[in-house]
Amino acid sequence: MDLYGIDSEAVRRLDALLESGVTVTVTAHTHPDGDALGSVSALVGYLRECRGKDAVAVLPDSPAATVRPIVPAGVPLLCFDTQPDDCLARIAASDLVVLLDANGFSRTEGLQEAFEASPAPKVLIDHHIGPDTEHFQVVFSTPDVSSASELLYYTLLELPDIGGDPRRLPADTARALLTGMTTDTNNFANSVYPGTFRMAADLIAAGVDREAVLADLYNRYRENRVRVMGYLQYEAMRITPEGLAYIIATREIMDRFGVDEGETEGLVNIPLSIDRVKMSILLKENGGHFRVSIRSKKGWSARACATSHFHGGGHENASGGKLFWPGDIARREDASAYLEQVSKACLS
Ligand code: 5GP
Ligand code: MN
Repeated sequence: MDLYGIDSEAVRRLDALLESGVTVTVTAHTHPDGDALGSVSALVGYLRECRGKDAVAVLPDSPAATVRPIVPAGVPLLCFDTQPDDCLARIAASDLVVLLDANGFSRTEGLQEAFEASPAPKVLIDHHIGPDTEHFQVVFSTPDVSSASELLYYTLLELPDIGGDPRRLPADTARALLTGMTTDTNNFANSVYPGTFRMAADLIAAGVDREAVLADLYNRYRENRVRVMGYLQYEAMRITPEGLAYIIATREIMDRFGVDEGETEGLVNIPLSIDRVKMSILLKENGGHFRVSIRSKKGWSARACATSHFHGGGHENASGGKLFWPGDIARREDASAYLEQVSKACLS
């Protein structure tokens, strides 16, 4: 199967690197989402179970409690925020590094320097535009795919031991792949390609329990999440004349409801259901800055907005970045005025 023109020469080189490497470190972007965790877990599981490797996941920061269960018990995980020395020692000892769901090591933030300094060969498997090819010996990169999990799925299928048969994937790997793809497509709502449905069909036929995946992803939140989402939509959402909906989730609101920012996952999509809304921005206060999530309808570019106004990037209709004070704005309270300007700049 060659749905994405997966380069057979690159597969051959990947297979050779996997064959010769023993200590493999698999990583992904900071603030790991379901696709980052799903793809990393899937690859670590495959490398351990099918190839007998000492494969470990090393992440720039700990997953939010809402997505942490995506990583199966059999996948060793080190996080730089809680075990910095172990992460750096592991990277230094690795003879192969794989980056998933990020277009370069800059997205691993605090670990960037260690990864780039490592002499180990490096593999990139990602679906963002603008891959940093400089630091990687083997690159699988296309934006025409739902998720890193989907691209990894079709890459694994090409490896000789899997031989195009998804039933040869370990059960945890198959499930993690379906989970990662499901979260990045917002459960088949965005960025869905023919290959995405084919992957889902293949994995379900191979035994993945999709109902259990959905229940784990969407039916296990705490009550606080639903309450804070309602509050933020009712009290905090503003809509500009140009059609930008924005919500500012301040520390006070999050503390009042006793939630962390992972528990607002999905909120940024909701305002797009309003007819006159073209773009939706959610600011989540995090220390001395806001983390920014942006979604847009077709015809408006979340990515351009993230790049020009929030030091970020991402996909055409789903992007993110940061907003700093003092810096981008003088005081935290100036965020709404900034967003009103962004609305004029991005939507007029
Ligand atoms: P989310 O809104 O779910 O946090 O992020 C949506 C997408 O935006 C991510 O999948 C990622 O591609 C991109 N993204 C989020 N934050 C950043 C950032 O700080 N920098 C860049 N370059 N991309 C980001
Ligand atoms: Mn992704």
